Amino acid sequence: MNFKYIVIHHSFTEDGKVVNWQAIRNYHLSLGWKDIGYHFGIELINNNYEILVGRQLDEIGAHTYGLNNQSIGICLIGNFDSKEPNENQLLKAVILVRTLLKIFNLGVESVIGHRETYVLYKRGIISYDVLKENIKSCPGFNFSMKKFREIVSKDENIRVLDKSFLKELNDFDEKVLNQRKIFWI
Ligand SMILES: [Zn+2]
Repeated sequence: MNFKYIVIHHSFTEDGKVVNWQAIRNYHLSLGWKDIGYHFGIELINNNYEILVGRQLDEIGAHTYGLNNQSIGICLIGNFDSKEPNENQLLKAVILVRTLLKIFNLGVESVIGHRETYVLYKRGIISYDVLKENIKSCPGFNFSMKKFREIVSKDENIRVLDKSFLKELNDFDEKVLNQRKIFWI
């Protein structure tokens, strides 16, 4: 699989101590999908955040309309429109993302929040019709993608391959978090 992006999502559900991952899987199966749409999930299980596996990496996911054939989908269980992500959950995501960036030889600007598909539209990478299906706050108004990428970058092996794209993403992310709204043209 020729992955270009790692897309970060939230589940929009509260993270309890039960396995929401399985509930999401059951829901996706009920839609007639062959498995849960994400490749990975990060969920609180018995007081520890754990990385859960969904689709295998040699399978196309179902998480970001129009971008599934070139992206890995990671879902952090929780609703980050209503609360901040937990630091330990973020840390697990950082570890996972760093590993994937190294394996697939990608720069940190490949790590995008679902909502940041807007930047791909602005760059002409996806069409307006594709963008329309992805107008969401995901992974939440309290989840800073800029901050997340900064933490991911605190590893000397993580590179930036496209500085101007990274800047566009970060500028957009700041704007979204400040205004708490996702879409304007
Ligand atoms: Zn999403």
